Amino acid sequence: MENKFYITTPIYYVNDRPHIGHAYTTVAADVLARYHRLINDEVFFLTGTDEHGKKVFDSAIKAGKSPQEFTDEVAADFQDVWKTLNISNDFFIRTTADEHKKRVQEIFTKLKEAKTPLGNDVLYEGEYKGLYCTGCERFLTEKELVDGKCPDHKVAPEQIAEKNYFFRLTDFLPKIQKRIENDDLKILPAKRKAEVLGLFKQGLDDFSVSRESVSWGVDLPFDTTQKAYVWVDALSNYITALGYPPYAKATGGKPDDSEKFKTFWPADLQLMAQDILKFHAIYWPAILLALGVELPKAEFIHGFFTINGQKMSKSVGKVIDPRDLVKKYTVDVTRYLLLSQFSFGSEADVQEERFDEKYNADLANGLGNLVARVSNLLEKDNIEVNIKIGSDEELKKHFDNVLKEFKIDEGLKLLWDKLRKADEIISAKKPWEIKDLNEKKAVLEPIAQDILNVAELLQVYIPETAAKIIKQFSEKNIKKGELLFPRI
Ligand SMILES: [Zn+2]
Repeated sequence: MENKFYITTPIYYVNDRPHIGHAYTTVAADVLARYHRLINDEVFFLTGTDEHGKKVFDSAIKAGKSPQEFTDEVAADFQDVWKTLNISNDFFIRTTADEHKKRVQEIFTKLKEAKTPLGNDVLYEGEYKGLYCTGCERFLTEKELVDGKCPDHKVAPEQIAEKNYFFRLTDFLPKIQKRIENDDLKILPAKRKAEVLGLFKQGLDDFSVSRESVSWGVDLPFDTTQKAYVWVDALSNYITALGYPPYAKATGGKPDDSEKFKTFWPADLQLMAQDILKFHAIYWPAILLALGVELPKAEFIHGFFTINGQKMSKSVGKVIDPRDLVKKYTVDVTRYLLLSQFSFGSEADVQEERFDEKYNADLANGLGNLVARVSNLLEKDNIEVNIKIGSDEELKKHFDNVLKEFKIDEGLKLLWDKLRKADEIISAKKPWEIKDLNEKKAVLEPIAQDILNVAELLQVYIPETAAKIIKQFSEKNIKKGELLFPRI
């Protein structure tokens, strides 16, 4: 074991069914987790579901179910999707799990006792008055409204006043800003760092960490009229999943089970879409500072994934279940299509009809065709090759460089450049016209070697296909295998 690598996706909200927006983030995290396992790092890869809140409660009632039944079903659905997509997560956390809830209560107890850098209480009681959108499940500012309505849900928010506990964010802001400015906490890509630093200039308020009006949530240990509001409950998953805090009060002295926390925290990378950037880049570090816990090393924000011009969520736009793509294209192809469409970190719209095009160009005519051609020619003349996996140091070095900067799509491009070059060599040298077997071998052997080297690294993207190619090209006498990607 060389290093450790802890990577997280956001926990997905169970009010939404799994769609390819979730799949995009999770497959990307899976690629990075697999890459770090490939280079022998000790990896912990976390994903899960966010299961509390009024919206979930309302959806459960609407579906004629208890909130627990409802969340059990949706959480199982998410787990099923990740299994279908061959996601290699080490743990799946649910915020309604007893373990998590107890730890969140412990965290609240710690926060209640904690002081800010200016010596004030971190938590304080206050009255929250504001415009609340049930759809967004948060208070909106006047500025956000369009014609007096929530821009996402097209309804006027309700005026609500209630007792809340607040987190004194303002006392932590200078510290957090500095950590982000000097990249102690890296916010990537650069434009997202600028965006976050812009928020400090605009001014940020304390945020509320509890709700009186919500019944489906974790009880505050020091005030049972209050339930934990989303941020402390949800964001804490990244540390409760590792066993933070070590059990003490809540469970009556269970032995310390936070070995994982000691090994894996701080997170090396937290992945998310831009809609939760503020909470991860500002609220989350503040909570950690209050707890005296180290901040994550990096947060990477990918753009909103729209499909045919529409955002994907239950309330707005179109939902594509990733399992439908798997049915049509297979697991590996779905993974490839999700990741290869656009640059990781930029915003993009994906046109569904381009999937077929991309499939035929890159997989059927690209990788699949090259593997078939080379293995076919080698088998036909019974040419023996002497090649070894992982022998292309230069390719590996380039690949390391881009993957260590989380440039997932660039890693793919590198591999496809290599395949394209191999294709060009074959087309130029026309080995099928060469009569002399040694000459023919001199053309084909290096190409077979390239394919094997590319397949090694492809394991992180399309593990099943890569395993097939590695098996096929690890034989001395390479045989024509099954067609990897039939044209559609
Ligand atoms: Zn709304």
